[in-house]
Amino acid sequence: MVPPSFKVDSCQFLAGIKPAVRTRIKNRSNIKIFLQSISSLGWCPVHDKSGFLVISKNKELSRMIMEVDQSSLPHAMILGRLLGYPECCSSFIEHSGEDEIDKLAEEYTRTNLKDHYSLLDISLYLKGIALISHVPCSYECKPSLDIAQQTLSFVKEYKKATGFAGWASLIAEYFSDP
Ligand SMILES: [Zn+2]
Repeated sequence: MVPPSFKVDSCQFLAGIKPAVRTRIKNRSNIKIFLQSISSLGWCPVHDKSGFLVISKNKELSRMIMEVDQSSLPHAMILGRLLGYPECCSSFIEHSGEDEIDKLAEEYTRTNLKDHYSLLDISLYLKGIALISHVPCSYECKPSLDIAQQTLSFVKEYKKATGFAGWASLIAEYFSDP
């Protein structure tokens, strides 16, 4: 129903690292039950007809993110800030152009990232293996590294939790040797 990358985003949301999650629902047949279960946790989902979904703990924030995302004006900076991305990285995307995101993301592989910065590897993000959900502004972006380290600590702390263990062990293994 949701793409594998939703696991990365929702883990950061659960850990309190990200204020909101934005994703796209592929199969809308069970959307009602899915949204009900999100609401029952006290979270505020907002979705549109194209299947875009925003979840945060505040209805106004969810609505605002959806509105900004749908705007035809350049909005990478403000959207990035609302989604909890570092200011330097949001500004980088604003200047590079949002159309370049996928191409830029491909560069963040182990080959280009040194030492601890290998935690910024987003080459498997779409498959749900990553510790950050944005494109960093450089191979040595410290605020992005902080987010990645916080996510990894959360994964390690809760790796035995029911429903979380499978994904957590994949993450722990992939990022075991930074
Ligand atoms: Zn940055």
